[in-house]
Amino acid sequence: MSERGRLIVLSGPSGVGKGTVLARYLAGRERIKVSVSATTRAPRAGETDGVHYYYLTREQFEEKISSGGMLEWAQYNNQYYGTPRAPVEEALREGVDVVLEIEVQGGLQVKRAFPDAAMIFILPPSFQVLRQRLVGRGTEDGQSVEKRLRAAVEELRRAQEYDFLLVNDRIEDTVRELEAAVEAAHTITRRQQSLLTEVLQDAQTDSVTD
Ligand code: 5GP
Repeated sequence: MSERGRLIVLSGPSGVGKGTVLARYLAGRERIKVSVSATTRAPRAGETDGVHYYYLTREQFEEKISSGGMLEWAQYNNQYYGTPRAPVEEALREGVDVVLEIEVQGGLQVKRAFPDAAMIFILPPSFQVLRQRLVGRGTEDGQSVEKRLRAAVEELRRAQEYDFLLVNDRIEDTVRELEAAVEAAHTITRRQQSLLTEVLQDAQTDSVTD
């Protein structure tokens, strides 16, 4: 049987530069895919249905939740966001790594369901830099920037629950750290699993277990 794909959860406040870091990380890599989320928020200029998100109505989204079609979901900025379950499970089964670029409430649901997921949170160098990046992006009006900053504080409060906190200061450094974090997360888990198998085999030889 081929090895299962690795699940990578990438979180961080809106405006921290997750998308840029991820694009660099993916460049030249094979057997890895980014899950396309579903959301009820309206598409931004330049976004395409099925590429950036699947844009659903609230009714469609709620139907997906109740039929068990979401791997995780959360409400953020009064909108639903969630990861469609089937494509992720299929990719992992086929040995393809899957990246979920999601906010923390959803990330922590994934951690509970997939304890060996690589949980990575990206921090801004400072709160001021985060504000500047959000304003500079120009995709949000002033009110929405403030809302996103408030949500950012909520996210930062829960960042401790992630395994790796990376600071996105110099992009090349952040990408390198992301590579190291993914490898570390999975090496550690793999080692534990093979050690566990070994210990159990020893126990059997030792005839402790009957
Ligand atoms: P945006 O509206 O800026 O595209 O996304 C807002 C937030 O929702 C970001 O933090 C993004 O990572 C998060 N998000 C995107 N897709 C999902 C998802 O499928 N599940 C969860 N829980 N959060 C998501």
